[in-house]
Amino acid sequence: MPPVAKLQSKRARRVGKTLTKAKAQKQESRHQLIQSKPARSKAVSSKPQFLTSPDLKKISWLIHGFSTRPGGVSTAFGGHSLNLGFPKPGVAKSDKRSQNSRSSDSRVNVAQNRELLLRAVDATTGSKSHREYLWPLVTLRQVHSDVIHVVTSGEPGSLSGDGMITNVPGIVLGILTADCFPILLVDKKTRAVGAFHAGWGGTLQRIVEKGVGAMRREFGSRPQDIHAAIGPGIQKCCYEVGDEFPAKFEAQFAYAADLFHEIKDSYSVQMKYPMLFMNQRAPGHGDLCIKQHLDLQEGNRRQLLDAGVPARQITPLADCTACDTKKFFSHRAEHGHAGRMMAVIGIRK
Ligand SMILES: [Zn+2]
Repeated sequence: MPPVAKLQSKRARRVGKTLTKAKAQKQESRHQLIQSKPARSKAVSSKPQFLTSPDLKKISWLIHGFSTRPGGVSTAFGGHSLNLGFPKPGVAKSDKRSQNSRSSDSRVNVAQNRELLLRAVDATTGSKSHREYLWPLVTLRQVHSDVIHVVTSGEPGSLSGDGMITNVPGIVLGILTADCFPILLVDKKTRAVGAFHAGWGGTLQRIVEKGVGAMRREFGSRPQDIHAAIGPGIQKCCYEVGDEFPAKFEAQFAYAADLFHEIKDSYSVQMKYPMLFMNQRAPGHGDLCIKQHLDLQEGNRRQLLDAGVPARQITPLADCTACDTKKFFSHRAEHGHAGRMMAVIGIRK
């Protein structure tokens, strides 16, 4: 393991390209909001609900969780929900796009939701009866890349990328999703953790496979000591992709064929456009519409296996975000008007 002093000499070293100043400021204000004292809580009808991996739950020094939709103070997405993604700055309410994005929620609500989640997963120091402090939350401006940061403190920062690793206790790493897969890694031996964001772009760039490599390089982690949890995200039942996707994945992965499932979608198309099918062919001989469905979760599981993580130490959560929009936010099922969930992980002090 590298000496801690070396790791702390910089707040975070980035494996990748450089940041712009504007991005840095944006990220900084985001951190300050969660670290300043949020407005007194509005009445919350229910506690935030989150999912855990039974395997990771056994690790006493770890906190982790995958947030779900119910139990927050946001009202922008129907009912009370736990939206954890800040509204995008600089979009006027009158802008038509704002009606179709996260911009309809308020920063105050999101800050309060983040606080609720941190308390729910027990990312606190001190006791409820005395003074309780929330651990600092480190998030990224996520850009569907393979950029991974080594996080060494919870100071407000300016990180752009899709993966974070740390071995410093008392910091929460947070990944935002609404269909993409969040992936949490834990090295039980060296007490190091990682959090990654894998949509199709990040998966294609092997973000999680590189994540295992980054933990190995920075903390001396051995893949056989790493435990992983994947999900929830959009599963193969709902994740229809364009015809060009199989070729993209075949260019990268020998097992690409295992990740695609052809769904014959004759019925729905014929119901929608009956005239198209009327005169062409005899009944039962019409062209079937074949759709490609991508299994992103399996793609990321395969990357973990390739990186040397044992299968029994990988827990893919079965939930599909697009199948159940009462429980989850789904960018696709909600046509872009969705909040964000957060996967969090941290090391107890
Ligand atoms: Zn589904």
